[in-house]
Amino acid sequence: MQKNDLIFVAGHRGLVGSAIVRRLRALGFTNLLLRTRQELDLADMAAVRAMFLAERPAYVFFAAAKVGGIMANNSYPAEFIRDNLLIQLNVIDAAHASDVKKMLFLGSSCIYPKFAEQPIREESLLTGALEPTNEPYAVAKIAGIVTCRSYNRQYGTRYISAMPTNLYGEGDNFDRNGSHVLPALIRRFHEAKLAGEPEVVVWGSGTPQREFLHVDDMADASVHLMQVWAEAGRDGGIVGGPNAVNEIVNVGYGSDVSIRELAELVREIVKYEGSLIFDSSKPDGTPRKLLDSSRLQATGWSPRVELREGISRTYQWFLEHHEEARLGTATAR
Ligand code: GDP
Repeated sequence: MQKNDLIFVAGHRGLVGSAIVRRLRALGFTNLLLRTRQELDLADMAAVRAMFLAERPAYVFFAAAKVGGIMANNSYPAEFIRDNLLIQLNVIDAAHASDVKKMLFLGSSCIYPKFAEQPIREESLLTGALEPTNEPYAVAKIAGIVTCRSYNRQYGTRYISAMPTNLYGEGDNFDRNGSHVLPALIRRFHEAKLAGEPEVVVWGSGTPQREFLHVDDMADASVHLMQVWAEAGRDGGIVGGPNAVNEIVNVGYGSDVSIRELAELVREIVKYEGSLIFDSSKPDGTPRKLLDSSRLQATGWSPRVELREGISRTYQWFLEHHEEARLGTATAR
């Protein structure tokens, strides 16, 4: 990737896309192609194709997706599969039609079987049944991986898929029902502290284990992967070898915590003094999904933001952007 190459970041208003934009700019990549949803509806195939053919980006970071926490996935299954399938096919096909050099497609660790062997290696893909609460989203993301892989096989394109673990950070969605666990707990503990409430409800049993990666680390890994891929090419490198499964790369932090431990940590950082209660009427989701990220680490990458520091930074951001975050419309700086 050259500093003046045209780079399209799809989903640049989202948690990951906005972090990728910050990272690219910090590294001196200034020729960024960005489109808001109003400017370009990624579900509109003709519009997406026209944009790619007119602009001809050289590289694409594909961070656009319909995403949400366990309740959002469970409540809107049709929207999760429909929107993701539509935008994926449109973007991947337009990238091919306009000869994009390389594309990084972002998936999710929920693509792996519910009871995959831990830590989860890339080879576990499609070896077992999925977690039901987010199966529609996972099936869409699996379709995205297989679409990229199929285009690579048939057309010789260079599309790589990165599978992030649970991400969090500045610019997250703090919506009461739609958000993921970490921003949800930050908001709930903060509001309970202000209201002087004696206890805070945490969903589920508290026993599921989750691995959390700060979004700045994810952005760093994304740019790194695009560059490693650029150096290695399709046939010789660690991430681009002839084995098709190598076109997927896990991006994790390396260790996980239980939801109870996470809640205790958030309570400490927010300085809430009350107690925790667990609401077992809410779903736990998959028991554990720790990624094996050794394939990525073998390329010389490792995360930098430690969980406590990352949560403190996210809480600070929440305090500064409280009003927008409250409305669920916050965008990252
Ligand atoms: P998941 O990793 O796809 O299951 O996504 P989430 O981040 O939504 O949930 C992770 C875990 O945190 C699940 O076991 C939830 O039951 C638990 N959890 C506890 N409290 C909350 C909460 O307030 N919101 C969410 N989204 N999850 C919570």
